[in-house]
Amino acid sequence: MIVAVLKETKQDETRVALTLDAVKALTGKGIGVTVESSAGVQSGASDADYELAGAKVSTNREELLATGDVFPVVNALPPDDQAKLKRGSVMIGFLRPLDDPEALDVAVKRGVTLFSMELVPRITRAQSMDALSSMATVAGYKAVIVAADHLPKLFPLLMTAAGTIPPAKVLVLGAGVAGLQAIATARRLGAVVEAYDVRAAAGEQVKSLGAKFIEVDLGGLQTEDKGGYAKELSPEALELGRQAIAKAAKTADVVITTAQVPGRRAPLMIPAAAVEEMRPGSIIFDLAAPAGGNCEVTKPGETIVYHGVIVFGPANLAAEMPVHASMLYSRNLSNFLQLILKTGELVIDRSDEIIAGSCVAHEGQVVNERVMAALKARA
Ligand code: NAD
Repeated sequence: MIVAVLKETKQDETRVALTLDAVKALTGKGIGVTVESSAGVQSGASDADYELAGAKVSTNREELLATGDVFPVVNALPPDDQAKLKRGSVMIGFLRPLDDPEALDVAVKRGVTLFSMELVPRITRAQSMDALSSMATVAGYKAVIVAADHLPKLFPLLMTAAGTIPPAKVLVLGAGVAGLQAIATARRLGAVVEAYDVRAAAGEQVKSLGAKFIEVDLGGLQTEDKGGYAKELSPEALELGRQAIAKAAKTADVVITTAQVPGRRAPLMIPAAAVEEMRPGSIIFDLAAPAGGNCEVTKPGETIVYHGVIVFGPANLAAEMPVHASMLYSRNLSNFLQLILKTGELVIDRSDEIIAGSCVAHEGQVVNERVMAALKARA
């Protein structure tokens, strides 16, 4: 049994799938771990550190691909790598099966079992495997830090001999995991914070962090699905939100947007006209950029200036904090690995709700209904 940790190949990826603690835990149970040379360098783990943790380090990627049994990854291996995997091996990570299912074709056809960390059900037993929340926590924090760094103003209220400086005003759109972390971070830096979310339950959480919740009357509309996620809204309901947001954005120094609806394009919450009404020098930080963005002028993967407003559209913000992003992700992955490596051997029990929910493909077939639907919609 070989758990193989490869160096990530995606551009600008700095994270590694398994950090030292996870490797120690696996090798301590007698499970072999081989790490591709320099896989952990940007996350603070050298080849020598991995060796001390009990792993073998290899420079032979081809051999690792052909002999590995389990591949914990951050991003799906590229098709060329997938073509070298052996039948019955396992790849697990952020595989983006709903956004880009075709990118997994080669692995599916080769009979590789695929698990998506995005599809791990959000049930209590799986909380320790919730990698989306881990990355959202990192991103929510980092968004505020970057915005504060670029704002030509101070965040806190300051009373000085030269006069009083009012606190910065931060508006957070979407108060899920990333939004709540952004609110907490902006509050700690002394900003005055307002937030909006379609889920009424988010209101209490926003207030408990000392921020104001923007109430929008959606006429009793059901906005939440049974999994606790936001539903896609009607154009009318979205427009009501946009009006309230545009009003608050006019006086905001920083707007952090995080609103997403799983499996859909991110809702459009800030039209270009609302950006034009904002003060020059203010900032929009669009954390939904990878899903198309919450702001009309966001360019995913770029930072632009529009009518004097700096608009950030980061493609992979968690990768800008590789040490802690990798540490959290690795813990999530190793908790998942315990489900399939319970006995030290690979056992895939598809009657387990977490395994069934996150399994994308097994024995040459796509087995997840949402992924099947995504593939059908593209055919
Ligand atoms: P997400 O990343 O899918 O979305 C971020 C936020 O955007 C959500 O709060 C959502 O309500 C909001 N949103 C979507 N469309 C919107 C719109 N048109 N206008 C305003 N806001 C909009 O969500 P997330 O952060 O991953 O979490 C969503 C929910 O899941 C929360 O209730 C969270 O507490 C819950 N959750 C549960 C668990 C668990 O039980 N293990 C773990 C993490 C999150």
